[in-house]
Amino acid sequence: MNISETSILLIYTGGTIGMVENPETGVLETFNFNQLEKNVPELKRFNYKISTVQFSPPCDSSEITPEDWCELVSIISDNYYKYDGFVVLHGTDTMAYTASALSFMLENLSKPVIFTGSQLPIGMLRTDGKENLMTALEIAAAKENGLPVVPEVCIFFENHLMRANRTTKINADYFNAFRSFNYPVLARAGIHIQYNSALIRPPERKPLNPHFLPDRHVVVLKLFPGITRETVKAILDIPDLKAVVMETFGSGNAPTKTWFLKLLKNAVNRGIVIVNVSQCASGSVEMQRYETGQRLSEAGVVSGYDSTTEAAVTKLMFLLGRNMTPIQVRQYMDCSLVGEITIPDKIKN
Ligand code: ASP
Repeated sequence: MNISETSILLIYTGGTIGMVENPETGVLETFNFNQLEKNVPELKRFNYKISTVQFSPPCDSSEITPEDWCELVSIISDNYYKYDGFVVLHGTDTMAYTASALSFMLENLSKPVIFTGSQLPIGMLRTDGKENLMTALEIAAAKENGLPVVPEVCIFFENHLMRANRTTKINADYFNAFRSFNYPVLARAGIHIQYNSALIRPPERKPLNPHFLPDRHVVVLKLFPGITRETVKAILDIPDLKAVVMETFGSGNAPTKTWFLKLLKNAVNRGIVIVNVSQCASGSVEMQRYETGQRLSEAGVVSGYDSTTEAAVTKLMFLLGRNMTPIQVRQYMDCSLVGEITIPDKIKN
């Protein structure tokens, strides 16, 4: 593996990793990222060039918006040919959304874009930030025969490299904050970083095609026993609504009550795309399996297969932002754009 002459752009958007504790109030506040080398002197020991850029001001990731995704896309696309790889430091709370969004918005990606962050600030003694940052840099710089080893948008966290659009935040307290339930990890970091090359997408040969217009007219409707007609109706009647990610039970099941199916059918007829994803963290929607799922299919609901909610929301925003018709959006939801879903042959919804 040759990593000499390599240059990496490190982008700090905000989040715990770059915060310090205010000694008077105990509240975590963002520090100036130029002080990074002071907190992580180990950075000087890498034999490649690391440049940094930060959001101004950096923000807690709960504040992140699709406009921030666009800012990231422009930083990466403006610097695309100057660097071999990109590391994005981001708060963990919404990292899976931002990273999923970028996996769609950076079309034809052929370089690594590795997201990471930490549960404890990088200046703290027991921080997980240093390890996450240093391994993410190493992964972003890794090459084999002159080609990047991981030309994908990924999240690296607590020794695991995961495809970004397969991840979900699962832990607010422990270091293993993320899981990829429906796709194996792309690499494990131990004494060596062991890449699972067969699972990593090959680099695209076409030039990068960045996209900047995610459409926000999307909503998540989480079903629960006892949900009322008024609630479902109010959501489906949101003005200008274009798509719904409906979180259903088990393998994609929902009530078969007439009022419910009628409301869905009516929304589909108005051009609203309704995508069925499961509330289960692991497994896939299979609408042919039970009558309850089959009825959704008949109402015009499309399968989200084994998609995370994060990937379904950001994929819809991406497709709608490209001014696609509902029919086109439905067609693209039914195929994998960048490895975000698996459609087994026998599952045809
Ligand atoms: N609230 C923080 C954020 O998401 C938590 C973190 O950085 O992990 O920005």
